[in-house]
Amino acid sequence: MRRLLLIAFALALAASPLRAEERLNVLASFSILADFVKNVGGDKVNVTSLVGPNGDIHVYAPAPSDAKTVGEVKLLVINGIGLEGWLPRLVQSSGSKATVVTASSGIAPLSHGSEADPHAWQSVANAKIYVANIRDALATADPADAAIFRANADRYLAELDALDAEVRAAIAKIPPERRKVISTHNAFGYFASTYGIAFIAPSGVSTENEPSARDIAAIIRQIRSEKIPAVFLENISDERLIRRIAAETGAKVGGTLYSDSLTAEKGPAPTYIDLVRHNIKALTSALGG
Ligand SMILES: [Zn+2]
Repeated sequence: MRRLLLIAFALALAASPLRAEERLNVLASFSILADFVKNVGGDKVNVTSLVGPNGDIHVYAPAPSDAKTVGEVKLLVINGIGLEGWLPRLVQSSGSKATVVTASSGIAPLSHGSEADPHAWQSVANAKIYVANIRDALATADPADAAIFRANADRYLAELDALDAEVRAAIAKIPPERRKVISTHNAFGYFASTYGIAFIAPSGVSTENEPSARDIAAIIRQIRSEKIPAVFLENISDERLIRRIAAETGAKVGGTLYSDSLTAEKGPAPTYIDLVRHNIKALTSALGG
């Protein structure tokens, strides 16, 4: 009997290191989604992102090694709403059997003209929908850890509620006539409609199109006629264009607003919550009157 117990104990010891390898392998298309997965999955998932910090999701060119990565994961979390145009081909060429989870599922997309705006995560209320979708997908893929995913999601959703309240309180302090900015890429439509700040973008939804000289002249006229107080840069667009506009109009260059990507760990926006906090601080200090 004692000997059997010892054997059982030895087996348990031998089995325990394997637990770590039982982590669910999840691949996210870009860094913000990976952060959501990390918060919900905790130490039950290994998550990586195809487009890493400071990368441009719109114009990503998959590397040959990405096909291998996609082929090995069980879950692939994407934004949807047309953001990852390069992805279907990659998934097909990888022969992947992964379940594809569209994190924005259930969100009614905004559109600019005929194009749907994929940047739904810029509203914290939408980020909560992403997190709920990710929670449900993780629970389906790994039912044994579903309770942990639910508890992690509950905690993170409460943090997002607090973040949403923080954003609303900060914007309430900006004089209403100053709640308008110019930004390099049209990524803040959901933020604008949720929180009531007008974003006027010099280029289209995609970073693939650079504005023409005629677009720039129109923007400069608009800043002057609408008395737009501030101009913002992004981490992924041409800063020279914005600086020229600022120099010709006297609008304040308000710093960088992060839209589509987290920064590296030591940067100002290593997590989604940091990103939103950074943006709201930049906005309030430029527009605060
Ligand atoms: Zn974008």
